[in-house]
Amino acid sequence: MTAPAVPAPSARRLRTRATLLAVLGEHGTLSRAEISRLTGLSRSAVSSAVTDLLDEGLVSEDATTTGPPAAGRGRRAAAVSLRRAHALVLAFDFGHTHLTAAVADTSGTVLGEATAHLDVDNHPREVLQAAETLAGQALDAAGHRLDGITAIAAGIPGALDTRTNVVRAPSTLSQWIGMDPAAELGRVFGRPVTVGNDAEMGARGERAHGAGGTVNDLIYVKASTGIGAGLLLDGRLYRGASGISGEIGHIQLPDTGTWCRCGNRGCLESVVSITEVRRRLAHVLAPGARPGEHVDLPPLDRLADVPAAARVIGEAGRTIGRVLADLVNCLNPAAIVIGGELGQAGAPLVHGIRESVDRYAQPAVAEAVDIRTSRLGLRSELYGAIDAAVAAAVGG
Ligand SMILES: [Zn+2]
Repeated sequence: MTAPAVPAPSARRLRTRATLLAVLGEHGTLSRAEISRLTGLSRSAVSSAVTDLLDEGLVSEDATTTGPPAAGRGRRAAAVSLRRAHALVLAFDFGHTHLTAAVADTSGTVLGEATAHLDVDNHPREVLQAAETLAGQALDAAGHRLDGITAIAAGIPGALDTRTNVVRAPSTLSQWIGMDPAAELGRVFGRPVTVGNDAEMGARGERAHGAGGTVNDLIYVKASTGIGAGLLLDGRLYRGASGISGEIGHIQLPDTGTWCRCGNRGCLESVVSITEVRRRLAHVLAPGARPGEHVDLPPLDRLADVPAAARVIGEAGRTIGRVLADLVNCLNPAAIVIGGELGQAGAPLVHGIRESVDRYAQPAVAEAVDIRTSRLGLRSELYGAIDAAVAAAVGG
């Protein structure tokens, strides 16, 4: 086997590099001595890492604009700063049946991307390996290498306990329960990885790059296999005491008896998950099909003009709206953004939700809330992970 022309950096060097980028992201501008003191790294390790980062154009070093003079030397210490506009991030969107990796710059522009369709819920180990492969493909597409990445973030479709970082039950990620995805991904990439719930990432994505605009009180609803909400309140993500806020899929509806995977009956997502809505659409669009027979359905965004289908979608909207009306009464949001696969159904879904919110929420709060579908389509979560990685890269 011949040696590669450019040897891969050692894991220790990558860790040192990530530590430096993190401390510069947090503190802005620092002298080499300050970096050494704050990180506990030796002066020579700091010096060699700063040289690498200068070569890559990720930091700048300026002797004229820095702070206190170096003790006893009668001159100012050179200051190292992160060149924020030049930082690159790696982001992952874990869905139930797909995984996407993207390389982006700090403005959120995607420079390279790769997706694989796979059973995320049931094969966590294979999925973590796929993350590494897809990251490599996205980096190749972007023309960069992993050691040029400043920060990594991922959104996962499961209940993530922020006290322990582990996936909690009940979760659609049944084989991930008890796993710590941030630690697992950290091992794969040899550096810290920020991990968040997918609905939280969706809220971030829509706020930063989509339909959220400058709204400070926003509920993002990911309506897919499960139904979860990302809550942006007063301009900040609200995760709750243990990180599991927004599980609106397990709010009970009156007069329904469907068993939910959580063990209760009548939970919202047991009635209007994308699987249930597709089953009903198959029933009205292919009435001759046998129960359980696979029916090819058109994409949801093409069904607004098909009256029977629009009626099914509108009914799903009214059901979701019944639960959202209570949330609107409680939180008085300015906007609700509906994403996920069901969100792609567009106008009939939004009209259904609007009807229930107007019917069940107090008029003053109902009229204050704008209800719309996600502008980023199925990419809200990916853009949210990019936003989280950029925040980690630049200390935001
Ligand atoms: Zn439930």
